[in-house]
Amino acid sequence: MTTPQPPPSVRPVRARVNPILCQGYGICAEILPELFHRDEWGYAQAHARNVDPDERQALDRAVAECPVKAIRLIEPSEESPPRPEGAWGPDTER
Ligand code: SF4
Repeated sequence: MTTPQPPPSVRPVRARVNPILCQGYGICAEILPELFHRDEWGYAQAHARNVDPDERQALDRAVAECPVKAIRLIEPSEESPPRPEGAWGPDTER
């Protein structure tokens, strides 16, 4: 017997920006500045937190409008453990 899961639209999600794909257009940060911010080079990063339900519509829009499809939604359980400040690696967000 499996535990019933909430539908995808109400499950907690986080956003992750692929630093290889991101071209720094900044559309995501314009749409949802509470979640996306840009580094000193203009590339986007997503805060490592669950997306508030009232942000979900704007997040879906940011995902759809990113010209290079660099934003991915992940479940919190997929999140890697936090890295030390300044650490680099395959899934390091800029
Ligand atoms: S919209 Fe896409 S390409 Fe532009 S800054 Fe955001 S993630 Fe990067």
